[in-house]
Amino acid sequence: MPNAITIKNVEFRWSAKHPNAVAIEQLNAEAGERLFVAGPSGSGKSTLLSLLAGVVTPQQGSVTMLGRPISQMTPAQRDHFRADHIGYIFQMFNLVSYLTVVENVTLPLRFSKKRWKMAGGHSAASEAIRLLEHLGMGDPELLHHPVTELSVGQQQRVAAARALIGQPEILIADEPTSSLDADNRESFINLLFQECAGQKTTLVFVSHDVALAEMFDRTVELPSAAMRDVGCEMRDGLGHPETRIPIPVSAQKEVTK
Ligand code: ADP
Ligand code: MG
Repeated sequence: MPNAITIKNVEFRWSAKHPNAVAIEQLNAEAGERLFVAGPSGSGKSTLLSLLAGVVTPQQGSVTMLGRPISQMTPAQRDHFRADHIGYIFQMFNLVSYLTVVENVTLPLRFSKKRWKMAGGHSAASEAIRLLEHLGMGDPELLHHPVTELSVGQQQRVAAARALIGQPEILIADEPTSSLDADNRESFINLLFQECAGQKTTLVFVSHDVALAEMFDRTVELPSAAMRDVGCEMRDGLGHPETRIPIPVSAQKEVTK
């Protein structure tokens, strides 16, 4: 089975006048791995997730997802790939305000026949309810509520169910726990893990809360913008190449292999 994620010599800048937002020589993740991405604000965590999801493509290097070179695809191919294979939990959840809880969860199935079938096709609403129940949103009162009437913690669970429905191989989560207290964070992450383990879903989870890192298989730490700039010089032979890739807090070998 190919790696779930393979990044090689990637450099990405938002425009020609900006410095690199992401510079990564190598990063691999196997199917089912749970990766924690840490780093200070502005270190490129969200940009890295955009590269993994094919929202943007690097100026240099390649991003290969599930053995498919997403960085070489056309925008339409990337949209299709993302819809079929990637669940995304946004930091602000991005729920659709005029849809109910269940309608929000089943929304990705409108864009992917594959995920629609995986979620049971015409009975996908039952799968949405199963996921919501598993994530602690089982109260039938809530299921057909407008999402605007939910608490932040409840919105987060809806966003997670929406990302998980139809069993995408890759789940990307961008600081989804930032507005929860510590106890709720851990229990939410454990619920995500349970869903991911069942499907062998690869999880890429971003947070600036490094206390959460120990729950994950592996941590990748992105250097601050200032360090990254130094790292770019190192690539020209001024230092160890290892220091300019994301510096893993744990298990450095896996990241650099
Ligand atoms: P993080 O998620 O770690 O806080 P980001 O990936 O959001 O970091 O940002 C990395 C760098 O890229 C920052 O300097 C930020 O200002 C810049 N950046 C992020 N998004 C955009 C964008 N859409 N357009 C231009 N610059 C951006
Ligand atoms: Mg961010």
